Amino acid sequence: MPALPDAAALARAGELRQLLNQAAHAYYVLDAPEMEDAVYDRLYRELLELEQGDPQLITPDSPTQRVGGAPAAGFSSVEHRIGLLSLDNAFNPEELQAWDERLARQLEDSEEQSREFVCELKIDGNALALSYQDGLLVRAATRGDGRRGEEITTNVRTIQSVPLRLRLEKPPAWVEVRGEAFIPDDTFAAINTERESRGEALFANPRNACAGTLRQLDPKVVASRRLDFFAYTLHLPAEVNGPASQWESLQWLESAGFRVNPHRERASGAAGVIDFYQRWEEERHQLPYATDGVVVKLDSLEQQQLAGFTQKAPRWAIALKYAAEEAPSRLLRLVAQVGRTGKVTPVAEFEPIPLAGTSVSRATLHNADRLLELDLHTGDTVVVRKAGEIIPEVVRVLSELRSADATRLELPRHCPECGSLLVREAGEAATRCVNSSCPAILRGALRHWVSRDAMDVDGLGGKLIEQLVDRGLVGSIADLYRLDAALLASLERMGEQSATNLMRALEASRQRPWHRLLYALGIHHVGSVNAKTLAAAFPSWTTLQDADEEGLNGLYGIGPEISQSLQQWCSTSANQELMAQLTDLNLPLETIEDLNSSDGPGPLSGKTFVLTGTLPTLSRHEAQGLIEAAGGKVTSSVSKKTSCVVAGAEAGSKLEKATKLGIRVIDEAGLQQLLKP
Ligand code: NAD
Repeated sequence: MPALPDAAALARAGELRQLLNQAAHAYYVLDAPEMEDAVYDRLYRELLELEQGDPQLITPDSPTQRVGGAPAAGFSSVEHRIGLLSLDNAFNPEELQAWDERLARQLEDSEEQSREFVCELKIDGNALALSYQDGLLVRAATRGDGRRGEEITTNVRTIQSVPLRLRLEKPPAWVEVRGEAFIPDDTFAAINTERESRGEALFANPRNACAGTLRQLDPKVVASRRLDFFAYTLHLPAEVNGPASQWESLQWLESAGFRVNPHRERASGAAGVIDFYQRWEEERHQLPYATDGVVVKLDSLEQQQLAGFTQKAPRWAIALKYAAEEAPSRLLRLVAQVGRTGKVTPVAEFEPIPLAGTSVSRATLHNADRLLELDLHTGDTVVVRKAGEIIPEVVRVLSELRSADATRLELPRHCPECGSLLVREAGEAATRCVNSSCPAILRGALRHWVSRDAMDVDGLGGKLIEQLVDRGLVGSIADLYRLDAALLASLERMGEQSATNLMRALEASRQRPWHRLLYALGIHHVGSVNAKTLAAAFPSWTTLQDADEEGLNGLYGIGPEISQSLQQWCSTSANQELMAQLTDLNLPLETIEDLNSSDGPGPLSGKTFVLTGTLPTLSRHEAQGLIEAAGGKVTSSVSKKTSCVVAGAEAGSKLEKATKLGIRVIDEAGLQQLLKP
């Protein structure tokens, strides 16, 4: 007698079955999915693997035992002449390779023999079975459970790309055609906009909108939704001398009047298939309809017959799906991460999963509110999303899979780094550690300071920063410039050579221009572009420190949020102390002229301008652009160094100051004069 199934596996299989069956009902019967496809696929795969590990776990109601959903009520159910199966999935090139190797064994091919395939894009729509008698469309049905589907002929007749009569001189007695009905993306968007305006529930995706439309009882509504159809499978009576390959079948379908997707190719061996798959990975997003993979079929119909079928799907075809952007995983722990501004971000760590081409094991939960909203518990199954370059995030928790003894997770009340009480100000989403000497904040500040766009200190990576902070060797940015080679050489994974190199890199960083240092300080909202603008207008720390609201806000790209953040930073005593130390250490807290004169010769080169008041035709930004293009510089405050003030209507204190200092004042016409080469 076989051993009893493992209790944990039994319980998990039960959970998965229930969850998947419920999702499949919502998806196939109600056309209103409750779960993302990628999540469904992954849970399905988990169940399949459990069942493969122990076949005793298979129950008759398992979703792995049937094709699609049962026919819905409302239409008459019809039996298919030839069953419509599902497709097995491969989720990456390795799985495709393994499938090809299995085929080689089934076909008893020798090692060097490669199989010929047809690659077709997998259109994300709904399979239809079309029956023609003596060339006339007599019946159209959905796939249903593969054996029986719903009869929807009247609706399918509204699809313009489905021929009502085959364009053949002598059509066979009967022809069975399978293909995909789909809704193009723009039509899908229009349908949802209309539904929204009528206060109706929106369709989750084009596939569900298409399924819902095909099941509409009013064919007029179906016609208005402009469905489309690509044919991909042909069945003919045995006595007809028809195509011998899938490739020829597609050509046959085309000549009989069907629309066949033009993006199809023959491919040799798994390598040829993978090449097609990779070429279409990005390209497919340019198509006006949704695709979610490549359907790979053995080209030769004779070989297809040899390979045969499983209970659910053909062995000679497979759907090679594109990487999911969303998938579930099991939560391992919740960590509170303290950033360089003291902001505390809840981060979920979970079992690694492949997403959008990379392995992902942590994802942000953004803030305490989001954590609360997700209602995260220990051991939860979380749905993680990562699209392209986007940082992974937890989008949902599958609370249905939660165990009874799970406990609720919350952000800690104290900083996990320094133990001080965390603060959340009214109206703020972020929870923060406000202890400016918190090691996490210091580490973040140092990492930013040495980064490439900031002071670019080569050889001072995250691990070394951690050592320096944790051993109390560096307590501020200024301390970096007090390090000596002997001390550095004594640290873990450092030798004399690395220490010397690092000392050189620190020394070299003193040559960075003022705007880089300003950016390196990591002031909230002062990114590298704003730092450049600020440094151009305020050529030193002393001038910047004294800048008033008006002077700051007049600068291109600088708004009240930035100026307030900057002023707050400048007035904080710890920051003033830091700047004093950096001054003592001879860091470049001002523009060193020769660093800035690389703009090349122009009529205004070497001249500094201040703009004030409203000019008759030029905006401030345009005037600044013209002056800079002519080699000049524009600053926001008048000083002895100012060459010229350009004044327009309602010029104020700057004009007064210019007059007092005896600086030349011109108007817009005068400026235009100066701009002439
Ligand atoms: P499938 O969609 O993975 O693949 C089979 C289907 O591919 C065929 O029936 C056909 O409609 C289509 N297809 C498109 N182009 C084709 C081509 N050129 N040649 C052949 N077939 C082509 O499998 P399925 O059994 O239809 O559905 C399972 C899928 O449905 C799952 O992958 C899952 O994502 C989704 N699903 C989602 C939920 C949910 O809750 N979100 C529930 C159930 C199923």
